[in-house]
This record gives sequence, structure tokens and C-alpha cells, in this order.
Amino acid sequence: MEEKIQEELYESFNSFLKFTFELIEQVKQDKEYFKFAVVNMQIALELFSKYYFTRMGKLEAITKKINGDSVIFKDFSQVLNFFFNSHHWSYGTKKELKYILELRNAIVHKGSNTHFDDDAANFIIKSIFFMHGTMYSQFGESLLKSFRGLDLKTNKMWVQGVNQFIDDHIRGDRWVCLDCENYTMVTKEFIEVEDNTPFTDIDELVCLCCFSELLIGTDCTLIDCYKCYENSYFINILNPQRDQQYIGRCSECDTSTLVRKCNECERYYHPYESNDSFFNNSYFCSNECLEIYKEY
Ligand SMILES: [Zn+2]
Ligand SMILES: [Zn+2]
Ligand SMILES: [Zn+2]
Repeated sequence: MEEKIQEELYESFNSFLKFTFELIEQVKQDKEYFKFAVVNMQIALELFSKYYFTRMGKLEAITKKINGDSVIFKDFSQVLNFFFNSHHWSYGTKKELKYILELRNAIVHKGSNTHFDDDAANFIIKSIFFMHGTMYSQFGESLLKSFRGLDLKTNKMWVQGVNQFIDDHIRGDRWVCLDCENYTMVTKEFIEVEDNTPFTDIDELVCLCCFSELLIGTDCTLIDCYKCYENSYFINILNPQRDQQYIGRCSECDTSTLVRKCNECERYYHPYESNDSFFNNSYFCSNECLEIYKEY
């Protein structure tokens, strides 16, 4: 029976989650849709948390009564309390999830005409990442992979919410995405957008705004920028140009001049700030490298 409940909850929270993305698009055209986004997100969260505990084998902890096939769940606020009491760290905060519940209650019970509000808008987006992060860290499954094709990078509500989520929940390096130009590119170890990829590979970057990915070491490499000094100069290593040069661009300051790969140590460097040497039709990053080369 639990399996059946779990299956149904999975189907339903996913369809509400999917609709959330449609509503985020709608809100962009018409702020009236905001209240639908709130109600819809609260339902998605409630179904998700019930699913989560059912799958964790804790159905009893969140139900008032189980009678054969019929299950009476506890109130969502109790389920939320149980979640935060049993998780010391999570991808969301109780305050934010409760706020969505309160807003939803005001809309549904009091007929309040909820207007667009930045905080609540951020909480909606953060709730998506809360569900995804919880799902991924516990079961190694992604909730975001089916949304990768969506064009959200110019959606203000989305971009703001993603930024807030990263500010609050992701520690570690962060870059400006070369595709969407938002400051939302992080290492993949924090949050995966594919199923079951190892959590520890710090050499993969993903943009949480447009979901584009970069494989450091395979597609590109990262060096310090010679203008702004940030470690944010991305080099496309798959596409060598003439004279050992490669195309690169700083995601922070947009500097985009060719970099060169040393013939000896294979390091990428900015010819502008290096005293590189030319010998035997090859470039070397330094005199030392040239000397080593000559010795053999
Ligand atoms: Zn991006
Ligand atoms: Zn720079
Ligand atoms: Zn060298």
C-alpha cells in the first residue's frame, strides 16, 4: 500500500512542480498570476514532503490515521516541523516554506488578493531548489533535468530567486555564466542536474540559471585573468588556433584575448603578461621552459 501512495505522490508533486515553471513564465507577462504560483507551489511542497517521508519509510510519522487504503495525513505545518526537526541542515529554511503556506492560506481562506512580492517570489524559486536538493542528496535523483530546455535566463523572478538560493545555501566558488551572463555558475558537487553523477567532482561547473555545463579539463580550463585577477578566465581547449593559441574569455570582466599554451610545461598563459620565448617554431611560457626544452 505504501508503494502505491508513494507512486501517486510522486506523480502529483511532479506535475505541480512542472506547472510551477509554467506559472513562472506567466508571471513574467502578468503579475496577476503570482497568486496561482503561490498556491501551486504550496501544493507541490506539501505533496513533495509527504512523498519524501513515505519513501524514507516514515509514513506513520506524518499521518493521523491509516485505515486500510485511506490515509489521513497530518497538517502540512506539522509535516514541515517534522522535516526541520529531523534535518539539521537542508536546502531550505522553515521560515521560507512556512511563509508560502501562510500566503497560500490567506489567498485560499481569506480571499486575500496577494500581489507580487519579491520575497515570496524568491521563496517560490528557492522551494524548487529545496525539493531538488533534498531529492538529490537523499536519493541521487534529479528533479531539474526535465526543465533544462526551458528558457528562463531572462526571467527576472527566476534569476533573482536562483541568485538568492546560491547566496544562502551554496558555499564555494561562483562564476558568471558564459552563456546567460548571470552570476550563477557553481561547481557541480553542490547540486547536480543529472541523475546519479558523483557528488564530488569539482571539475564540473553548472549554471543554476540556464543549466549550461562546463567540463573543466575536458572542454575548457580556468586560469587567472590578467586584467581583473579573478580566477575566471575560461579557455576553450578543444579548439586550438594558430601559434599555440586558444580562445579565452574572462567571465568577470569580459576580457577576451588569445592565450597560449607553453610547448614545454603545457601551461596556458597570457602572452601579454609573460615574457614568452620563441625558438624552433615553438612558444615557451618562460626562459626556464625554453632552457629545459633545449637540454633534451
Ligand atoms: Zn547560465
Ligand atoms: Zn577578468
Ligand atoms: Zn612553460
